[in-house]
Amino acid sequence: MCIFCKIINKEIPANVIAEDENCLAFHDINPKAPVHILAIPKIHVDSFNEVTPQIMENMTTFMQNVAKEVGIDQNGYRVITNIGENGGQEVQHLHFHILGGAKLKWGHFSDSDPKDFL
Ligand code: 5GP
Ligand code: ZN
Repeated sequence: MCIFCKIINKEIPANVIAEDENCLAFHDINPKAPVHILAIPKIHVDSFNEVTPQIMENMTTFMQNVAKEVGIDQNGYRVITNIGENGGQEVQHLHFHILGGAKLKWGHFSDSDPKDFL
């Protein structure tokens, strides 16, 4: 069983913010912003590559509500999902990073200069 499925099953503790029938949100253990939440579907999905529109429908409303609940919806925030090796995905259970609480920087997405790929 994957690490996020263990969190869903309460076999591993997590700092849970919100939960409904289909989704769970908890604080990232290694935050990269003042607010860094992970939102996941309760059903195991490897990554965004495999997710269905039905799951995304639930996730979308859930994440909008989480952003409101923690008070970042008005000032703005960022939602990121990493996919596969090039995307930097470390946990193979679909998760959305919800980052906010400060003006976020934009960039540093590759160790290479983007011009090198042109
Ligand atoms: P990825 O690199 O796969 O997009 O992101 C995985 C995220 O999960 C990382 O930001 C990492 O800090 C977080 N993470 C990994 N293991 C745990 C854990 O056991 N508990 C919590 N709360 N976060 C975790
Ligand atoms: Zn899982």
